[in-house]
Amino acid sequence: MSSNRGVGARLTEALVGGLRPLIVLTLRELSHAPLHFGCCDTHSKTEHPTGQINIKGRYPLLVLPDRASDCVETQDVVHPLFLQICACAQTVSVTLTVSDRPAIAPMDTVKIAVIGGGLMGLSTAVCISESIPQCSVTVISEAFSPNTTSDVAAGVLIPHKFQGTPIHQQINWFKETFDYLFSIYNSAEASDAGIILLSGWQIFQTPPAEKYPFWSDVVLGFRLMSDSELKKFPHYVFGQAFATLKCECPPYLLWLEKRLKRNGGQERAGKVQDVWELYGQYDIVVNCAGLGSRELFGDKGIYPVQGQVLKVHAPWLTHFVRDGSGSTYIYPGISSVTLGGTRVQNEWSLKPDSSVSKEIFRRCTALVPSLEGVQETREKVGLRPIRPAVRLEREVLLRGGQRLHVVHNYGHGGGGFSVHRGTAKEATRLVEETVTLLSNTMTKSKL
Ligand SMILES: Cc1cc2nc3c(=O)[nH]c(=O)nc-3n(C[C@H](O)[C@H](O)[C@H](O)COP(=O)(O)OP(=O)(O)OC[C@H]3O[C@@H](n4cnc5c(N)ncnc54)[C@H](O)[C@@H]3O)c2cc1C
Repeated sequence: MSSNRGVGARLTEALVGGLRPLIVLTLRELSHAPLHFGCCDTHSKTEHPTGQINIKGRYPLLVLPDRASDCVETQDVVHPLFLQICACAQTVSVTLTVSDRPAIAPMDTVKIAVIGGGLMGLSTAVCISESIPQCSVTVISEAFSPNTTSDVAAGVLIPHKFQGTPIHQQINWFKETFDYLFSIYNSAEASDAGIILLSGWQIFQTPPAEKYPFWSDVVLGFRLMSDSELKKFPHYVFGQAFATLKCECPPYLLWLEKRLKRNGGQERAGKVQDVWELYGQYDIVVNCAGLGSRELFGDKGIYPVQGQVLKVHAPWLTHFVRDGSGSTYIYPGISSVTLGGTRVQNEWSLKPDSSVSKEIFRRCTALVPSLEGVQETREKVGLRPIRPAVRLEREVLLRGGQRLHVVHNYGHGGGGFSVHRGTAKEATRLVEETVTLLSNTMTKSKL
């Protein structure tokens, strides 16, 4: 081989000398590659929110900058950041920083409106903007942080069971959410995003039917509490110890908003009175309106379960305590400790009740006596959007000869934080299906 061949070519020859196949991808292709790619799914890809992409595969992989042509031999300079070659059976890390990441083409062929600026709307909009480059995404919401239900929540990842959703699906959603947030927690983004790792105890006055809940393999270090730990809680006979993640709000919601804008997404304040207002302006509507879906989509199956919490200043508390019934909990966070709680079915009021606050404080102090010393207490009330199962599906609304494509992602009740990334990914997949459908329809109509 001649010595004036490019760096890329020479490295390729050196590594592929053993006749192993070589996979060549440009940075753009890598960024938009599906989770499994290469010949016969030879490589799998994991994306981290920090921009790092890990590739695992059996064959060498060469990543070229986008300006490169697809002919390796013509490469004289391959930027070291972009060039990663993995020998057999290795994981290679390709870090794409914000400026390195190929800009998402400003193609506005498919316009997407996401209704709802709470946790579900923002996380779904971010996921769509990361995964579907030929879309423009606008979040339309009556309220944004700090005025959403999501801002009231403790934001702790302990799943609730949705009766109408298969358990394997709930495990997947939880695992995807946990892994996503754990990778943020392990990155320089953790403080901006407000993600912390929190260990603690879930205690029971009577042993639960499932001593090892369906999510016990996903959280970290799950074990049954020892007798000496349980002695701290005289009225309790059984307990579970584990570490999980907590999203601090508003910071996490603001971080999602920043991410969305960085990906080219937009926000529009205002209430959507009738979903048909959006017809003609947007090709696909994603409904993340939570309780708003009752009025907007006539879903009489969704209703509020009101919850009141106290946010107190108690920086010495770093360990959570939760009564297994969910009635009482103490969740330390970055700037405050959340004390809860209440569950009042079908109550729409957002007004805190001071007698309820006293009762919450009494229950929490019984579990953690050092709370007696707290000052600075804020009362907050939120409405959990409850329905038998999360509604995650496509719908085509018809009016006269007009068709409006909708993807629903709402009804996460008291467990939205625990599954939000998983359901956002599923909603994104449904949007992708709709995009394909729309582009097929457009192609056919041009023929
Ligand atoms: C007290 C309390 C504690 C909680 N603790 C936890 C916890 O520790 N862990 C956990 O996993 N979950 C917890 N949750 C549950 C969690 O908060 C919810 O599941 C989650 O916030 C729901 O998010 P969402 O985006 O669907 O709803 P929301 O945050 O209510 O967002 C809905 C958005 O839609 C907008 N909207 C509605 N209708 C319209 C319309 N017509 N036009 C335009 N915009 C509209 C609203 O303005 C809002 O911005 C808790 C909830 C409460 C109340």
